[in-house]
Amino acid sequence: MSKEENLECSFCGRKKAETDLLIAGMDAHICDKCIEQAHGIVEEEISEAKTDGLSKDLILKKPQEIKAFLDQYIIGQVETKRAMSVAVYNHYKRLLQTKDNDDDDVEIEKSNIILVGETGTGKTLVAKTIAKMLNVPFSIVDATVLTQAGYVGEDVESILSRLLQVADYDVAKAEKGIVFIDEIDKIARKGDNPSITRDVSGEGVQQALLKLLEGTVVNVAPKGGRKHPEQKFIEVNTKEILFIAGGAFSGIERIISKRLNRQAVGFAASLEDDKIDEGNLLQYIIPSDLKAFGLIPEIIGRLPVLSYMNPLDADTLRAILTEPKNSIIKQYAKLFKMDDVDFTIEEEALNYIVGKAVEYKLGARGLRSLCEAIFTDAMFDLPSSDDKELNVTKEYAEAKLTNTTLKKLKAAS
Ligand code: ADP
Repeated sequence: MSKEENLECSFCGRKKAETDLLIAGMDAHICDKCIEQAHGIVEEEISEAKTDGLSKDLILKKPQEIKAFLDQYIIGQVETKRAMSVAVYNHYKRLLQTKDNDDDDVEIEKSNIILVGETGTGKTLVAKTIAKMLNVPFSIVDATVLTQAGYVGEDVESILSRLLQVADYDVAKAEKGIVFIDEIDKIARKGDNPSITRDVSGEGVQQALLKLLEGTVVNVAPKGGRKHPEQKFIEVNTKEILFIAGGAFSGIERIISKRLNRQAVGFAASLEDDKIDEGNLLQYIIPSDLKAFGLIPEIIGRLPVLSYMNPLDADTLRAILTEPKNSIIKQYAKLFKMDDVDFTIEEEALNYIVGKAVEYKLGARGLRSLCEAIFTDAMFDLPSSDDKELNVTKEYAEAKLTNTTLKKLKAAS
């Protein structure tokens, strides 16, 4: 045999004759088959690195940058935006830690969040905006539909079916998602709070949620709903899913006030400097208030970041109309522009809308309904008309907003 024929692939050992191609390196050779295999490995590694890279990219956003992003969409609520920014930053730091196999034993726990505030103050919006910034799947679930396993209603696992759906059944993606659990206050334990009249399964649901919040592998029925034996389950690990819970906790002010007054007895001297703002007691909320309301301590422990939403005053509502990046008025302007209609709205008209929202206690959600009532005629007529201008004055808004409409909006709110 010639020296040439003696050559073999240094990876698989095939003789030159058994290969289509044998490429020579410095001290070794590689055959075409091994090249192909190696190429496959490279491809796989790259695509895995891309998924891993998700969290690596995310960590690049510092809390101040996260807040700056939130500022573009959410008016006010500064305390919550700061708390959320830190929580989200820490959440992704935690994800990196589990990947990198730290050498110390300090394990960073999840920074799931609980937001307390009246309906319509932006709890969902904050959660949704965070997900948008991170470009991770986001789903909203209503805690009131959840029941203990075995009861009529949805198992807590159904929370993940929706997330999976949003993530197009890409499990790795869903496992880095954000879930907003709305109306968490409605599964408070009866007893501690007389205003809750719902059944006793509240505590059972809280118990069922515990593992999910902390991190566990759950068998999820892909189509959601009840588990059917013929359905194949998808395993989802909730360890890296960020849970944000929200609730109005109506009546919790009384609990806070009682606690503050009790404390005040002991700290009478310092009370002078630290006057309690009775108009917004939520700002003093602490975890023990949630317990007094009826959340079990274990749930509170798994939602360690507690923040509150301020009620929306007229100034905030006015800002919400025009300032956010996708404010309601900007959206209408865009809709009109698509029909080449030049849309403007006068300051007085904006103030009129805000005035009605305040008068009828419609909140931020009401702003959209009010605008809808005012602009519907124009949106119906202008696309077929030669009129390419709409300037909304206070009088125009007043004329479009009849008392009947206002009453209807009030009833619907
Ligand atoms: P919640 O979850 O607290 O009931 P949402 O987040 O659903 O309230 O808010 C309802 C709507 O009101 C949002 O879609 C948004 O248009 C508007 N909104 C509420 N609060 C704010 C805010 N602080 N900044 C901007 N828009 C807000």
